[in-house]
Amino acid sequence: MFNVILFGPPGSGKGTQSEKLIDRYGLVHLSTGNLLREQISNQTRLGLEAKKFMDSGQLVPDSVVIGMIRSAIKENPDAEGFLFDGFPRTVAQSQALDELLAENHSEINAVLALEVSEDELISRLLNRGKTSGRSDDTNEQVIRARITEYENKTAAVAEYYDQFGKVVKIKGEGDVEAIFDALCNEIEAKKIV
Ligand code: ADP
Repeated sequence: MFNVILFGPPGSGKGTQSEKLIDRYGLVHLSTGNLLREQISNQTRLGLEAKKFMDSGQLVPDSVVIGMIRSAIKENPDAEGFLFDGFPRTVAQSQALDELLAENHSEINAVLALEVSEDELISRLLNRGKTSGRSDDTNEQVIRARITEYENKTAAVAEYYDQFGKVVKIKGEGDVEAIFDALCNEIEAKKIV
C-alpha cells in the first residue's frame, strides 16, 4: 500500500490536487470535509451535529472524524493506497490514523504539505464561496476562524510527521499543473524507496 496525506491550510488547493492525484495513482480519496458534507446532505444525526462546528469554522470533534475514517478504510479492503485530504487535522487524529493503518500492516508514506500565504488563502476561499454553495466560504469571519483552527491545532500535525521524516513542503501558489508536477515528483521519489 502507498498512503499519502495531502496537507495544508483551508484553501491551499488540497481538493483540486487530490482529484488529479487519485486519477494518476489510483488511490482511494478520503476527504473528511466531503464525508461530513455527505452526512449533512443526508441529514444524519452525525451530519446535524457536525454542521454546528463547520458553520462556525471550528473543527468537528476527533471521535467523529476518526470513526468516519475507520469505516471508510474498512469499506475499501482492496485499496492500493489512500489519499487523505483534510485529515488528520489534530495530533490525536494523526495517532489514531497511524494505529488504524498499522492494523492493516501499513503506514503513511508521505505527507505533502502545500504552502500558501494567508492573504492568498482568504481571497481564494471568498472567491470559491461565490460558486461552491458552501456557506463556510462566504463569510470572512468563518474563514478566519478556520485559519486560526489550522494554526492552533492542525499545524502540529506536520510537526508530528516531521519527527518521522515524512513531510515534504511544496509551494502551493502559481500554476495548478506546476504544483501537480511537484507533488508527482515527490510521490515518485518516495515510491522508489
Ligand atoms: P477546507 O480545507 O477548505 O476548510 P474541508 O472540506 O476540508 O475544507 O473542511 C470543512 C470543515 O469540515 C472544516 O472547517 C471542519 O469544520 C470540518 N472538518 C473537515 N475535516 C475535519 C477533520 N479531519 N477534523 C475536524 N473537522 C474537520
